[in-house]
Amino acid sequence: MKCLEETINYGGEDNMFIDQEYIENLLDEAKSATKEDIQKVLDKAKEKKGLSHRDIAILLQTEDEEQIKEIYKIAGDIKKSIYGNRIVMFAPLYVSDYCVNNCVYCGYKKNNKFPRRKLTREEIQQEVKILEKMGHKRLALEAGEDPENCPIDYILDAIDAVYSTQNDNGVIRRINVNIAATTVENYRKLKEAKIGTYILFQETYHKPTYDRMHPNSIKGDYEYHLTAFDRAMEAGIDDVGGGVLFGLADPKFEVLGLMIHNEHLEEKYGVGFHTISFPRLRKAEGNDLNKFPYLVSDDMFKKIVAITRIAVPFTGIIMSTRESAEMRRELLKYGVSQISAGSSTGVGGYKERENGQKDVDQFELADHRTPIEVLKELISDKYIPSYCTACYRKGRTGDRFMSLAKTGQIQNVCTPNALMTLMEFLMDYSDEELYEKGEALIKEELEKIEREDVRNLVRKNIERIKNGERDLYL
Ligand code: SF4
Ligand code: SF4
Repeated sequence: MKCLEETINYGGEDNMFIDQEYIENLLDEAKSATKEDIQKVLDKAKEKKGLSHRDIAILLQTEDEEQIKEIYKIAGDIKKSIYGNRIVMFAPLYVSDYCVNNCVYCGYKKNNKFPRRKLTREEIQQEVKILEKMGHKRLALEAGEDPENCPIDYILDAIDAVYSTQNDNGVIRRINVNIAATTVENYRKLKEAKIGTYILFQETYHKPTYDRMHPNSIKGDYEYHLTAFDRAMEAGIDDVGGGVLFGLADPKFEVLGLMIHNEHLEEKYGVGFHTISFPRLRKAEGNDLNKFPYLVSDDMFKKIVAITRIAVPFTGIIMSTRESAEMRRELLKYGVSQISAGSSTGVGGYKERENGQKDVDQFELADHRTPIEVLKELISDKYIPSYCTACYRKGRTGDRFMSLAKTGQIQNVCTPNALMTLMEFLMDYSDEELYEKGEALIKEELEKIEREDVRNLVRKNIERIKNGERDLYL
């Protein structure tokens, strides 16, 4: 019998490259996979040669506990071999909560009545200074969708305000942008404004669910939303970050949706997702979690993160502070390569937190620790927290980045950059305990750098940073 991939055309000439029936059939067919079939996929996964849709569906349907443990083990090995022990750090910056949409799951939906606001240039600079004081170098700029109150020119000005705010040694070196799907022309403007990654969550690939979640709104146009990255790529943005909001539809369907979307971009533009985010649905103002039948359990969540790591080894996996410290710690083992720390998900939230105030947030957070606390735990667990932003500033983006990543050459710069940015953090923002822990880790990790010339260079640069220089990178 022919397998589904040979018989169904999922990537037709039109833009609906996500074929709902195809995904459902894949999942149905995979339910009858035997233990031996699953083992074959696991053996293939170990070779890191990529998985077919059918393979991914089989792993998603696996229920056998021993085989699930093996999925974790393979994901952990892949993660270690590609990302080593580095974890990239970032924080979100919410600039506007005006929104014309009514997404059922979101605290910023139009029907929620609260005083909306967008930050002035000065307020953005205040927020950025607070983020810089926490040691952040990489931000994700977030805004609701409102063409009138939050037009593209406002976003461009906000980006400029962020990049131009320097505070002692604090500076934001990379801004990733998460704003609503827009036109090629607007994406060109974002590209010119020197954004890092353009992030957009599909929320759900399951069209009937998508339609229900986005009633009577601009965002309700599934196809326009789905093809946003095509327009971004057309405009020259080659780093795009996908994601879904896990909890809206069957998570197995969503993982296959993500994989097919990724492949569509790879096939058409030579590069797929730079990152995939894994937000799980949380309580927010005006949403009742009891009304969502697909809430994702911790076990299922771990499984889908691990399967994604196996299926797309070179794509960064992002986890936000929506997840608890324990869950984040666990998922770092199976695939997560980027985490946020010290986050606020309210507009002007960092200033308000300093003042002890509390406003409407987009959703509830579970990890409230400061970056210093997060870094202490990471270092105790032998991870290297990294504030590196080098690739984008060196022009290593899109397919250039991916070809370096796939040949493993990127590793020669990631660890050195992680160590140098960690040293910067220790010099400028840490307390005594973190400094000691961090310095010991840097010494240990320096010895592990294989190339002698690189090791010597990094050692020299660490000393230069201790003597006051900043922003040294490879
Ligand atoms: Fe608006 Fe985004 Fe919230 Fe939807 S998810 S209501 S578009 S802010
Ligand atoms: Fe990321 Fe590039 Fe820095 Fe490595 S060198 S951590 S890939 S920005």
